Amino acid sequence: MKQRAEPEAGVLYLVGTPIGHLGDLSPRARALLVAVDTIACEDTRHSGQLLTALGSKARRCSFHQHNTYGRIPQLLNELSSGHSVAVISDAGLPGISDPGEELVAAARQAGHAVICIPGPCAATTALVSSGLPSGRFCFEGFLPTKGRERRESLAAVVAEERTTVLYEAPHRLVKLLEELQELCGDQRALQVTRELTKRHEQQVGPTVIAALEHFKEHPPQGEFTLVLGGAPQQEQATMNDDQCRQQLTALIKQGMKPSDAAKDLSRSAGRSRRELYALLHENQKQAD
Ligand code: SAM
Repeated sequence: MKQRAEPEAGVLYLVGTPIGHLGDLSPRARALLVAVDTIACEDTRHSGQLLTALGSKARRCSFHQHNTYGRIPQLLNELSSGHSVAVISDAGLPGISDPGEELVAAARQAGHAVICIPGPCAATTALVSSGLPSGRFCFEGFLPTKGRERRESLAAVVAEERTTVLYEAPHRLVKLLEELQELCGDQRALQVTRELTKRHEQQVGPTVIAALEHFKEHPPQGEFTLVLGGAPQQEQATMNDDQCRQQLTALIKQGMKPSDAAKDLSRSAGRSRRELYALLHENQKQAD
């Protein structure tokens, strides 16, 4: 299939860069970073090494959490004047716990095309190699570091039934594992991934307690992504036919219409309204 020539004038490109292994930079990302007019880097010094090694002569500017709102109008001006702009973060996909989200929203609102040149992301790399269900998942990134916000976020994370992916700094990892153990017990499934795509890549699990014991003995160093198994589904007690008949009869005796009684009971009995109607119908037939 013939591809569009890149970069195009007035387009904002989000470019995924390696999270460790330099071989993970795609040929498309490489070509774009060489040919684009301007590259907004989370850290110009950090990305400078990669860009210089690629032979990129693009204009570089810093774009990080402390200058986001000042920089956005300047970058939009560049797009309006027909330049192409790329955004890269220190590692991985811009916009995932990294700058990018606000610029993309502003560019779209101003009518500019936004194209992502996909690349590595620690969250999805950890998820798919964890062995935990990945059909539906939740991404929380870094949790708030303290206070009520942290307690509330942790409570929501441990109650979540889908697999949840978290980022954590090495010096806070053991504390997070202790909190998870306290809130969801020893045996909740957990895979802690360390230094993904790098020489010392490691997976530690398969439970919260196993990871906690490991990192108490081996102080965490490097970069970490956690993949936490979902909370067990809340089992709703299901009433049997006799219990349902009794309850329906009682509700109807209290003056409820049969349809309302079936609707009301279906909420607490773990049975569908249609099943309850069928039971009522059988009762009626036996009475006739
Ligand atoms: N935008 C990035 C991405 O797409 O993955 C994430 C940026 S966030 C500021 C950095 C955090 O991602 C790290 O603190 C760590 O939790 C996680 N991370 C990044 N690289 C990693 C790696 N190689 N192995 C494990 N986790 C990593």
